Amino acid sequence: FVSIRNLRKSYGTFEALKGIDLEIEKGEVVCVVGPSGSGKSTLIRCINRLESFSDDSTILVDGTPVMPGRALAKVRAEVGMVFQGFNLFPHLTVRENVMLAPRRVRGANRATAGEQADRLLQRVGISEQADKYPDYLSGGQQQRVAIARALAMEPQVMLFDEPTSALDPEMVGEVLDVMRDLAGTGVTMVIVTHEMGFASQVADRVIFMDGGEIVEAGPPNELLGAPKHPRTRNFLSAVL
Ligand code: ATP
Ligand code: MG
Repeated sequence: FVSIRNLRKSYGTFEALKGIDLEIEKGEVVCVVGPSGSGKSTLIRCINRLESFSDDSTILVDGTPVMPGRALAKVRAEVGMVFQGFNLFPHLTVRENVMLAPRRVRGANRATAGEQADRLLQRVGISEQADKYPDYLSGGQQQRVAIARALAMEPQVMLFDEPTSALDPEMVGEVLDVMRDLAGTGVTMVIVTHEMGFASQVADRVIFMDGGEIVEAGPPNELLGAPKHPRTRNFLSAVL
Protein backbone atom coordinates (compact mmCIF):
# COMPACT_ATOMS: atom_id res chain seq x y z
CA PHE A 1 0.00 0.00 0.00
CA VAL A 2 2.99 2.21 0.73
CA SER A 3 5.75 1.21 -1.60
CA ILE A 4 9.21 2.67 -1.08
CA ARG A 5 12.00 1.91 -3.54
CA ASN A 6 15.60 3.02 -3.37
CA LEU A 7 14.75 5.99 -1.15
CA ARG A 8 17.71 8.32 -0.97
CA LYS A 9 17.82 11.64 0.80
CA SER A 10 20.76 13.96 1.33
CA TYR A 11 21.17 17.10 3.35
CA GLY A 12 23.99 18.79 1.44
CA THR A 13 26.68 16.16 1.20
CA PHE A 14 25.33 14.15 4.13
CA GLU A 15 23.32 11.07 3.12
CA ALA A 16 20.52 10.69 5.66
CA LEU A 17 18.80 7.83 3.78
CA LYS A 18 20.97 5.46 1.75
CA GLY A 19 18.51 3.58 -0.44
CA ILE A 20 15.58 2.33 1.63
CA ASP A 21 13.34 -0.40 0.19
CA LEU A 22 10.14 -1.03 2.07
CA GLU A 23 6.72 -2.41 1.14
CA ILE A 24 3.96 -1.76 3.64
CA GLU A 25 0.68 -3.61 3.22
CA LYS A 26 -2.76 -2.14 3.67
CA GLY A 27 -3.70 -2.33 7.33
CA GLU A 28 -0.17 -3.21 8.42
CA VAL A 29 1.25 -1.65 11.59
CA VAL A 30 4.98 -0.99 11.26
CA CYS A 31 7.10 0.33 14.11
CA VAL A 32 10.42 1.97 13.26
CA VAL A 33 13.13 1.92 15.88
CA GLY A 34 16.78 2.93 15.90
CA PRO A 35 19.32 5.30 17.41
CA SER A 36 19.12 9.07 17.24
CA GLY A 37 20.14 10.34 13.81
CA SER A 38 19.49 7.03 12.06
CA GLY A 39 16.97 8.59 9.66
CA LYS A 40 13.65 7.50 11.20
CA SER A 41 11.99 10.93 11.03
CA THR A 42 13.43 11.60 7.61
CA LEU A 43 11.97 8.32 6.35
CA ILE A 44 8.43 8.98 7.50
CA ARG A 45 8.55 12.65 6.48
CA CYS A 46 9.40 11.53 2.95
CA ILE A 47 6.20 9.43 2.80
CA ASN A 48 4.01 12.55 2.53
CA ARG A 49 6.85 14.56 1.06
CA LEU A 50 7.41 16.92 3.92
CA GLU A 51 10.98 16.22 2.78
CA SER A 52 12.04 16.09 -0.83
CA PHE A 53 14.09 13.08 -1.91
CA SER A 54 16.31 11.92 -4.75
CA ASP A 55 14.85 11.80 -8.27
CA ASP A 56 15.77 8.13 -8.69
CA SER A 57 13.76 7.16 -5.61
CA THR A 58 10.10 6.14 -5.76
CA ILE A 59 7.39 6.24 -3.17
CA LEU A 60 3.86 5.15 -4.03
CA VAL A 61 0.93 5.60 -1.67
CA ASP A 62 -2.07 3.58 -2.80
CA GLY A 63 -0.52 3.53 -6.26
CA THR A 64 -0.03 7.30 -6.47
CA PRO A 65 3.55 8.54 -6.85
CA VAL A 66 4.57 10.96 -4.09
CA MET A 67 5.81 13.65 -6.43
CA PRO A 68 5.44 17.41 -6.46
CA GLY A 69 2.38 18.33 -8.46
CA ARG A 70 -1.32 17.82 -8.44
CA ALA A 71 -1.31 14.25 -7.11
CA LEU A 72 0.48 15.37 -3.95
CA ALA A 73 -2.70 16.88 -2.52
CA LYS A 74 -4.40 13.49 -2.95
CA VAL A 75 -1.55 11.71 -1.18
CA ARG A 76 -1.55 14.22 1.67
CA ALA A 77 -5.30 13.84 2.12
CA GLU A 78 -4.78 10.09 2.48
CA VAL A 79 -1.86 10.32 4.88
CA GLY A 80 -2.34 11.68 8.40
CA MET A 81 0.60 12.65 10.56
CA VAL A 82 1.11 13.06 14.30
CA PHE A 83 4.34 14.55 15.62
CA GLN A 84 6.11 14.66 18.96
CA GLY A 85 4.87 18.23 19.53
CA PHE A 86 1.13 18.51 19.19
CA ASN A 87 1.03 21.51 16.82
CA LEU A 88 -2.58 22.36 17.65
CA PHE A 89 -3.88 25.78 16.73
CA PRO A 90 -3.95 27.67 20.03
CA HIS A 91 -6.63 30.15 18.96
CA LEU A 92 -9.10 27.38 18.05
CA THR A 93 -11.01 25.17 20.46
CA VAL A 94 -10.40 21.46 20.52
CA ARG A 95 -13.50 20.81 18.37
CA GLU A 96 -12.54 23.56 15.91
CA ASN A 97 -9.04 22.09 15.59
CA VAL A 98 -10.57 18.76 14.56
CA MET A 99 -13.08 20.43 12.19
CA LEU A 100 -10.55 22.60 10.39
CA ALA A 101 -9.16 20.27 7.72
CA PRO A 102 -12.51 18.75 6.68
CA ARG A 103 -13.94 22.29 6.40
CA ARG A 104 -10.99 23.79 4.50
CA VAL A 105 -9.84 20.89 2.38
CA ARG A 106 -13.09 19.06 1.78
CA GLY A 107 -15.55 21.91 2.09
CA ALA A 108 -17.56 20.01 4.71
CA ASN A 109 -20.34 22.09 6.23
CA ARG A 110 -20.18 23.21 9.83
CA ALA A 111 -22.76 20.77 11.14
CA THR A 112 -21.26 17.72 9.44
CA ALA A 113 -17.71 18.58 10.46
CA GLY A 114 -18.87 19.30 14.02
CA GLU A 115 -20.66 15.97 14.35
CA GLN A 116 -17.65 14.14 12.98
CA ALA A 117 -15.35 16.01 15.39
CA ASP A 118 -17.54 15.03 18.33
CA ARG A 119 -17.46 11.37 17.26
CA LEU A 120 -13.67 11.46 16.97
CA LEU A 121 -13.21 13.22 20.29
CA GLN A 122 -15.36 10.56 21.90
CA ARG A 123 -13.24 7.90 20.24
CA VAL A 124 -10.04 9.33 21.74
CA GLY A 125 -11.75 9.80 25.10
CA ILE A 126 -11.90 13.59 25.46
CA SER A 127 -15.45 14.62 24.65
CA GLU A 128 -15.62 16.79 27.77
CA GLN A 129 -12.74 18.95 26.49
CA ALA A 130 -14.30 19.84 23.13
CA ASP A 131 -14.94 23.52 23.89
CA LYS A 132 -11.65 24.22 25.62
CA TYR A 133 -8.56 25.76 24.08
CA PRO A 134 -5.54 23.45 23.69
CA ASP A 135 -3.44 25.30 26.29
CA TYR A 136 -5.86 24.19 28.99
CA LEU A 137 -5.32 20.50 28.22
CA SER A 138 -2.66 18.13 29.50
CA GLY A 139 0.01 16.93 27.07
CA GLY A 140 -1.67 13.54 26.77
CA GLN A 141 -5.02 15.15 26.02
CA GLN A 142 -3.44 17.48 23.45
CA GLN A 143 -1.81 14.55 21.71
CA ARG A 144 -5.15 12.73 21.59
CA VAL A 145 -6.68 15.83 19.98
CA ALA A 146 -3.85 15.79 17.43
CA ILE A 147 -4.70 12.16 16.62
CA ALA A 148 -8.41 13.02 16.29
CA ARG A 149 -7.51 15.93 14.04
CA ALA A 150 -5.45 13.69 11.77
CA LEU A 151 -8.26 11.10 11.67
CA ALA A 152 -10.77 13.74 10.61
CA MET A 153 -9.49 13.49 7.04
CA GLU A 154 -10.22 9.74 7.15
CA PRO A 155 -6.67 8.86 6.15
CA GLN A 156 -5.67 5.47 4.79
CA VAL A 157 -2.24 5.81 6.35
CA MET A 158 -1.25 7.33 9.70
CA LEU A 159 2.34 8.34 10.37
CA PHE A 160 3.48 8.88 13.94
CA ASP A 161 6.85 10.38 14.85
CA GLU A 162 7.59 9.67 18.51
CA PRO A 163 4.09 10.71 19.59
CA THR A 164 4.76 10.04 23.27
CA SER A 165 8.33 11.35 23.62
CA ALA A 166 7.32 14.81 24.80
CA LEU A 167 4.82 13.52 27.36
CA ASP A 168 5.14 13.13 31.09
CA PRO A 169 5.39 9.42 31.85
CA GLU A 170 1.92 9.18 33.38
CA MET A 171 0.37 10.36 30.10
CA VAL A 172 2.15 7.99 27.77
CA GLY A 173 -0.30 5.15 28.39
CA GLU A 174 -3.44 7.06 27.41
CA VAL A 175 -1.95 7.99 24.03
CA LEU A 176 -0.63 4.48 23.38
CA ASP A 177 -4.11 3.11 24.23
CA VAL A 178 -5.67 5.30 21.54
CA MET A 179 -3.04 4.13 19.04
CA ARG A 180 -3.60 0.52 20.03
CA ASP A 181 -7.35 0.91 19.35
CA LEU A 182 -6.57 2.52 16.04
CA ALA A 183 -4.30 -0.36 15.06
CA GLY A 184 -7.31 -2.66 15.26
CA THR A 185 -9.32 -0.66 12.73
CA GLY A 186 -7.42 -1.47 9.54
CA VAL A 187 -5.63 1.86 9.17
CA THR A 188 -2.11 1.42 7.87
CA MET A 189 0.25 2.79 10.52
CA VAL A 190 3.94 3.68 10.51
CA ILE A 191 5.12 4.56 14.00
CA VAL A 192 8.55 5.82 15.04
CA THR A 193 8.76 4.98 18.71
CA HIS A 194 11.04 4.18 21.60
CA GLU A 195 8.23 2.31 23.36
CA MET A 196 9.47 -1.25 22.84
CA GLY A 197 6.66 -2.78 24.91
CA PHE A 198 4.09 -1.08 22.70
CA ALA A 199 5.95 -2.11 19.54
CA SER A 200 6.09 -5.73 20.63
CA GLN A 201 2.34 -5.81 21.35
CA VAL A 202 0.98 -3.81 18.44
CA ALA A 203 3.38 -3.99 15.50
CA ASP A 204 3.00 -6.51 12.71
CA ARG A 205 6.58 -5.71 11.82
CA VAL A 206 9.41 -3.83 13.50
CA ILE A 207 12.11 -2.12 11.45
CA PHE A 208 15.50 -1.33 12.90
CA MET A 209 17.30 1.58 11.22
CA ASP A 210 20.88 2.66 11.70
CA GLY A 211 23.01 5.04 9.64
CA GLY A 212 20.30 5.75 7.08
CA GLU A 213 19.66 2.09 6.30
CA ILE A 214 17.25 -0.64 7.32
CA VAL A 215 19.55 -3.03 9.11
CA GLU A 216 16.96 -5.61 10.05
CA ALA A 217 13.19 -6.03 9.93
CA GLY A 218 10.83 -8.70 11.15
CA PRO A 219 7.93 -9.59 13.40
CA PRO A 220 8.37 -8.13 16.89
CA ASN A 221 9.07 -11.44 18.60
CA GLU A 222 11.96 -12.02 16.17
CA LEU A 223 13.38 -8.52 15.86
CA LEU A 224 13.00 -7.58 19.51
CA GLY A 225 13.21 -11.08 20.97
CA ALA A 226 15.93 -12.66 18.85
CA PRO A 227 17.71 -9.99 16.79
CA LYS A 228 20.15 -11.40 14.25
CA HIS A 229 22.28 -8.41 13.44
CA PRO A 230 24.93 -7.24 15.94
CA ARG A 231 23.91 -3.58 15.45
CA THR A 232 20.31 -4.47 16.37
CA ARG A 233 21.50 -6.39 19.42
CA ASN A 234 23.67 -3.51 20.51
CA PHE A 235 20.85 -1.02 20.18
CA LEU A 236 18.36 -3.20 22.01
CA SER A 237 20.71 -3.99 24.85
CA ALA A 238 21.16 -0.25 25.33
CA VAL A 239 17.44 0.61 25.38
CA LEU A 240 15.75 -2.42 26.97
P1 ATP B 1 15.95 11.04 16.47
O1 ATP B 1 15.75 9.69 17.11
O2 ATP B 1 16.95 11.86 17.21
O3 ATP B 1 14.67 11.76 16.20
P2 ATP B 1 16.07 10.27 13.65
O4 ATP B 1 16.36 8.82 13.48
O5 ATP B 1 14.64 10.69 13.52
O6 ATP B 1 16.66 10.74 15.05
P3 ATP B 1 16.54 12.13 11.50
O7 ATP B 1 15.88 13.30 12.14
O8 ATP B 1 15.79 11.44 10.42
O9 ATP B 1 16.95 11.05 12.61
O10 ATP B 1 17.93 12.61 10.98
C1 ATP B 1 18.80 11.77 10.24
C2 ATP B 1 20.10 12.50 9.99
O11 ATP B 1 19.87 13.60 9.12
C3 ATP B 1 20.73 13.06 11.25
O12 ATP B 1 22.11 12.87 11.17
C4 ATP B 1 20.39 14.53 11.20
O13 ATP B 1 21.40 15.29 11.81
C5 ATP B 1 20.31 14.81 9.72
N1 ATP B 1 19.33 15.85 9.44
C6 ATP B 1 18.00 15.80 9.71
N2 ATP B 1 17.36 16.90 9.29
C7 ATP B 1 18.32 17.71 8.77
C8 ATP B 1 18.31 19.01 8.16
N3 ATP B 1 17.19 19.70 8.00
N4 ATP B 1 19.49 19.50 7.73
C9 ATP B 1 20.63 18.80 7.85
N5 ATP B 1 20.71 17.57 8.40
C10 ATP B 1 19.57 17.03 8.86
MG1 MG C 1 13.35 11.73 14.76
